[in-house]
Amino acid sequence: MAKIGFLGLGEMGTPMATRLLRADHDLTVWNRSAERTVPLAKEGAAVASSPAETAAGADFVITMLATPQALEQVLFGPTGLAPALSPGQILIDMSTVGPDEVRSAAARLPQGVSLVDAPVRGSVPQATSGQLEVFAGASDENYERVRPILELLGKVRHTGGPGSGAAMKLVANLVLGATIVTLGEALALGESLQLERGLLFDVLTDSQIGPLVRAKRGNIESGDFAPSFKLRHAAKDLRLVTEAAAARRRELKQARVNRAWLDEAAEHGAADLDFSSVVETIRKEEP
Ligand code: NAP
Repeated sequence: MAKIGFLGLGEMGTPMATRLLRADHDLTVWNRSAERTVPLAKEGAAVASSPAETAAGADFVITMLATPQALEQVLFGPTGLAPALSPGQILIDMSTVGPDEVRSAAARLPQGVSLVDAPVRGSVPQATSGQLEVFAGASDENYERVRPILELLGKVRHTGGPGSGAAMKLVANLVLGATIVTLGEALALGESLQLERGLLFDVLTDSQIGPLVRAKRGNIESGDFAPSFKLRHAAKDLRLVTEAAAARRRELKQARVNRAWLDEAAEHGAADLDFSSVVETIRKEEP
């Protein structure tokens, strides 16, 4: 069994860490808000009092944090993890932070410490049941080392060398952003053409965006947007998408519009609701 440090016990980190613990790994957890470590501690995890402390004796240290800024803080801030890592240890970052941040962080780790980027597709239900899709960017050697750990969390794809997992995740979330905005605009159009709402959902369920309609219909019909995937993170992801594209002189017109919708929803108070609540912003928009 491996000794694993796990940092970031949010919506996703908590069920993921719980799976590793229940697979009998020796787990030490850390979270900025200490109260979120309590459920893991009750199941037998050790609790570290700083990011640096999670490195002691660990084979792997996993980060599942909100943003590139959060990852910077945890790695390189006061009592940060990075200086405490030793040669041979592997840092597995599973947050969605984009390839530029991953490569920049990797370059500042101590000599002999590797960073594997392994962001995930899927949300809280898949994190809980171990059915995430993991995009792993790693050398062949590091991939073989991390694979048994990542396979406890879901289906693992080796996307290429370091940074490629983070890059693939941006591609996946460009599509997710486009799909939720398409759903919002389809509902807005359908309702303004006075089509019956249930029928609209039925037709959209059988359309190209069917899987997302099936997943989010309940939220939209009930108006309950308790977050699985916070809208602020979806907006952050489209920012990462458009910035990564701009840095490579690539014009993504649709992604820019989708980002604008998510930013507008966040400005109207939806940042901590589920990302599907952007549909409400689109439906209520008046020219
Ligand atoms: P979350 O519930 O918002 O949790 C975010 C975590 O980051 C918390 O542990 C939070 O600590 C920590 N954090 C935020 N800012 C920090 C800082 N400055 N310093 C230290 N820690 C900080 O997010 P999540 O839904 O678990 O998502 C985590 C990552 O996975 C994000 O990058 C997200 O885009 C990605 N993701 C999410 C989903 C999903 O469906 N939720 C799916 C795929 C990928 P506190 O508890 O102290 O706030």
